[in-house]
Amino acid sequence: MQLEIRDLSKTYPNGVKALKGISLDIPRGMFGLLGPNGAGKSTLMRTIATLQDPDTGSIKLGDIDVLRDKDGVRRVLGYLPQDFGVYPTVSAEDMLDHFAVLKGITRRAERREVVKALLHRTNLYNVRKKKLGGYSGGMKQRFGIAQALLGDPKLIIVDEPTAGLDPAERNRFHNLLSEIGEHVVVILSTHIVEDVSDLCTNMAILSAGQLLLNTTPREALDLLRGKTWMKLIDKAELADYEARHNVIMSRLYAGRLQIHVESDAQPDNSFSAVEPTLEDVYFSTLGRSESPRAAAA
Ligand code: ADP
Repeated sequence: MQLEIRDLSKTYPNGVKALKGISLDIPRGMFGLLGPNGAGKSTLMRTIATLQDPDTGSIKLGDIDVLRDKDGVRRVLGYLPQDFGVYPTVSAEDMLDHFAVLKGITRRAERREVVKALLHRTNLYNVRKKKLGGYSGGMKQRFGIAQALLGDPKLIIVDEPTAGLDPAERNRFHNLLSEIGEHVVVILSTHIVEDVSDLCTNMAILSAGQLLLNTTPREALDLLRGKTWMKLIDKAELADYEARHNVIMSRLYAGRLQIHVESDAQPDNSFSAVEPTLEDVYFSTLGRSESPRAAAA
């Protein structure tokens, strides 16, 4: 089953064009949708999840016409929204049981089995009696995935999942997602590039409602291979370097600033060649869309 998005556009009543003619094929496996805040990721996710309508365009999930057959989509959809709220005084086990009823699992014995299996799968079985209000960020996210997996979904949408997780929790969450991604379509919407490079077999970059890139993380790296140059500079020198070079990334490194410059040839011998990262590709792609000067270069 794959997801086919065609010419999707959405303008909010306040005039913001959140989606501008998006067309995208999303195959089985983990798909990373990257973009800065305000890119339109949530608008796209909510539209696929049948929570809002576009102005124009179509979406098909296998044979299902997503925009018309909303019930059909909901039967095969698992959704972990950005702002997933939980009732703080209810235990994970009871809450999951309640969600299972809503998903239509009405037989009590069956529900008990399903809930138990999901608690094990998300590593929450030992804390199943604990109130959700006492859960850590990582535990809440895993609980969010447990509820999204109810009813054996074919399409799973996870919106900004790892913000606020510590590295160990993030790792656990990643392992869980990649296990799930082996069997179904999982769309991971995020502004964290590492999440995509670690997990996804396919990816897209969205910015200001437009699709800038749709590829695999591996092919994305080819775009910058042999064209990425690194130098350590003082922080105060950054503006000067930005004026003279196409600086795609800068980050603090041991108190100094490490910059990555995109250039077909070595800018000068104070720069050394580096293997590009997906972060380089991301910032290069965003930069090209923002600055006509960079695009012309
Ligand atoms: P992302 O998830 O990538 O941060 P969103 O889809 O949330 O992006 O937002 C895309 C743009 O649409 C932003 O400029 C945002 O302010 C605007 N937007 C989102 N939801 C609404 C809404 N309900 N009404 C008006 N503008 C909205």
